[in-house]
Amino acid sequence: MGDYWSKMAYHRRYIRFSSWSSNRGYEVRGLFNDGLSCCVNALLQSFSATTELLDILNKWNPSDGIEQSNIPLQLRNTLLSVRDPSHPAPHKGFLDCLYRHAIRRYTQQDADEIFHMILNLSLKQMPDHELAQEISSLYTIEVETQVTCMDCTFIHRLPNSYFSLPLVIHEGENTLESCIKSFFKKQKLEVSEKFFCDRCEKKQPCAYEQKLVSLPQILCVHLKRFRNEHGLIKKLDSKVTFPETLKMSVFAAGQSENAASDSPQADYSLFAVIVHKGSAVSGHYTAFIRQTQDQMWYYANDSRVNQATWKDVQDTYKGRETAYLLLYRKKSLDSSG
Ligand SMILES: [Zn+2]
Repeated sequence: MGDYWSKMAYHRRYIRFSSWSSNRGYEVRGLFNDGLSCCVNALLQSFSATTELLDILNKWNPSDGIEQSNIPLQLRNTLLSVRDPSHPAPHKGFLDCLYRHAIRRYTQQDADEIFHMILNLSLKQMPDHELAQEISSLYTIEVETQVTCMDCTFIHRLPNSYFSLPLVIHEGENTLESCIKSFFKKQKLEVSEKFFCDRCEKKQPCAYEQKLVSLPQILCVHLKRFRNEHGLIKKLDSKVTFPETLKMSVFAAGQSENAASDSPQADYSLFAVIVHKGSAVSGHYTAFIRQTQDQMWYYANDSRVNQATWKDVQDTYKGRETAYLLLYRKKSLDSSG
């Protein structure tokens, strides 16, 4: 009897979301761990919460002849199957595809590297070039690296872009805002790292800074916790506090004069956190996901999914369980959520 009712409750819980639409939420669903796939699982939870990505993939009509090993096809299938409660293994095809081409089973992965790999393969293998461009624009942070020659003061401008903002963190305490400000601070190149100045036609001491040109709809922030020290990879467990709403004013000092527009820019709202627990050599990835419909936080640890609080999410800045990637969504200017 109890079993029957728990099955019915399970059924009702999922049936609400069985026909997917981007305006509605979805049930955060556990993903079983296959060959130490916790890193990919955590990332898939964040992709699944990125309804904008599925909106783009849903515009695509893959031809019948397309290979099953096509990454954007498998990503699309996974994001759709995860919303279908009758589908027993939503991410199996995607994992098999990654294992066949790009990553090894039973090996610890770096979530930032795998995030880039999935996006790069999706762009490369997407036959519809307009849609590939849309996926790219969804995540691309455009910057301009300005290198100033210390001798002739000429500024060399080099366009650059990121899928995740790589932020250096320090021992001790950090705030996300202070890490962002340091990223855009002017820095001197080491004496050994002179830059070739076109004007002086020789290598010169230089200063460089990153200037922000444009921010995407989905802003991924990479807290660089892993660093190479004399050939050994070390993890920094330092505390990094981060806000639920990231104010655009944090970026004001880093704006390039070539920035896209001077119209008011919307703030960003946190919707996913990829968490790393453990050391540089062995660890485990999990994800906090904020559901779009009820704005509730959920904690996905492979197959297990629990409701969570904002305090649980914030606590990932301390101890062994540390926030590693933060995903923010640009708010619409007329909304509070
Ligand atoms: Zn010069």
